[in-house]
Amino acid sequence: MAVKPPIPDRDDAFFWAGAREEQLLIQRCGECGTLRHPPAPMCARCGSLSTDAVAASGRGTIHSWIVSHHPTEPDAEPRVVVLVDLEEGTRLVSNLIDAPLDEVTTGLPVDVCFVEHDTTAGGTVVLPQFRVATAGGAL
Ligand SMILES: [Zn+2]
Repeated sequence: MAVKPPIPDRDDAFFWAGAREEQLLIQRCGECGTLRHPPAPMCARCGSLSTDAVAASGRGTIHSWIVSHHPTEPDAEPRVVVLVDLEEGTRLVSNLIDAPLDEVTTGLPVDVCFVEHDTTAGGTVVLPQFRVATAGGAL
């Protein structure tokens, strides 16, 4: 299934570039070190415009989730949309893949994976998505 491509801007271009290198990056304030997601131009804690990024472990737990039945394509499978609590303390919205719906629950440990998708614009994009955690951990 082709996805709409993200349109990176100067705040989140690092996130998409990291995904292409199979790294889940979190924006960090260059002054006070506060992590934040989604990326933003200014730190809400100290007001600094200085930023860098750190690589997340890719491990987290499901904070909340839904099953989307939006008919984006006639034969599309329902998608599990998850809000993941990363162990670094930030959250992000993504998809849980390869998981039976009856196993999905709040608090379920998950690991990031990186999946290349065709886009509706004719290119490809790598999306950080999640699978149920295995004993070996992320990646
Ligand atoms: Zn700050």
